[in-house]
Amino acid sequence: YKKSLELLKGQASVTTDGKHVELAGNIGTPNDVDGLIKNDAEGVGLYRTEFLYMDRTDFPTEDEQYEAYKAVLEGMSGKPVVIRTLDIGGDKKLDYLQMDEEMNPFLGYRAIRLCLDRKEIFTTQLRALYRASVHGKLRIMFPMISSLEELLQAKAVCEEVKAALDKEGIAYSKDVEVGMMIEVPSAAVISDVLAKHVDFFSIGTNDLIQYTCAVDRMNQKISYLYNQFNPAVLRLIKMVIENAHKEGKWAGMCGEAAGDQRMIPILLGFGLDEFSMSPISILPARKLINSVSQADMKAFADKVLELGTAQEIEAFIAETFK
Ligand code: PEP
Ligand code: MG
Repeated sequence: YKKSLELLKGQASVTTDGKHVELAGNIGTPNDVDGLIKNDAEGVGLYRTEFLYMDRTDFPTEDEQYEAYKAVLEGMSGKPVVIRTLDIGGDKKLDYLQMDEEMNPFLGYRAIRLCLDRKEIFTTQLRALYRASVHGKLRIMFPMISSLEELLQAKAVCEEVKAALDKEGIAYSKDVEVGMMIEVPSAAVISDVLAKHVDFFSIGTNDLIQYTCAVDRMNQKISYLYNQFNPAVLRLIKMVIENAHKEGKWAGMCGEAAGDQRMIPILLGFGLDEFSMSPISILPARKLINSVSQADMKAFADKVLELGTAQEIEAFIAETFK
C-alpha cells in the first residue's frame, strides 16, 4: 500500500471521468511546508496564522508576518497558498490581548469580529499579506464570516490597504484571490449572495458542524452528536458548493472532513473543487479519487441525501465501499 502511494507522487488528482481536484494541505507554521512537499501537496488550503500570534508577549510586527508569509509562498514555489486571517478568540487566547470573560466564547468576540473591531490588528496583517503576495500565488481567506456586511467590511479594509501600498509605492500582486470560510450556518444559507463577492469558499466543517447542530466541538459528553455525516450538515455543504458554482467560483473544504476517506466520495459527488487536509492524508486521498468516477459519486451522494440520520448514512457508506 505504501509503495502504491509513493507511485502517486507527481500525478494529478483526477477522477476516472476527468474531474480534476486540488489536494492541498493544512499548516500552522512555515516549518510545516516540508511535510506538504514530501506528501506532494498541490497547494496550501489553510494556513492558520494564529500560531504566529501565540506564545509571545506582543503582536507580531508587519515585517515578522511578512517574513512568515513569504517563507510559505516561496516554499510552495508558485503553488496556491490560502492564508487565513487571524482566527483568535473562542478557545484560542493571547496573553497580551485583554479580552472580557464571555458566557459563550465560541459565539462571541472572535476571528473576523475581533479583526473588524480592532482594525489596526487586521490592517497590519493585510499589509504583510499583500506585501508577501509578490512571492507566490496568494489567496486571502476570512474566518467566521456570518453576514454579507462583515464580508464587505473585510473586503473594504483590503482595498484601503492596497490603496495605501500604492501610495507608498510598495509592490503587491494584482491576482490575489479573496475568499471566505463557510463555517457559520448563516453564511451557508446566504452563500448564493456571498458567492457574488468572493473568489472562493472554503468550508470549515469543524465549526460548521458545531454551529449547525449546536454541539460544542470540545465537549466529550455530547460528542456523539458531533457528526460530519449529519444530514443537515451534508445538505448545507452541497448547497454551498452549488451556490459557488452558480457564480463561477470554486469551493474547497479545509475542515477535518476533507481528508476523511468516508467523506471524500460524497464531497466528490457534490462537486467539491479543492480538499485541504493534514499532509499524511493527501496521497491516500489521491488514490481514492483517482479510482472512482465523479458521475458514480454523484449518484451515490444523491442516495446519501435521501437518508435521514448520520447512522444510516455511515452504514450506507460502509456497505458501498466494502
Ligand atoms: C474549521 O472550522 O473547520 C476550520 C478549518 O477552522 P478551525 O479548525 O481552525 O476552527
Ligand atoms: Mg473554524
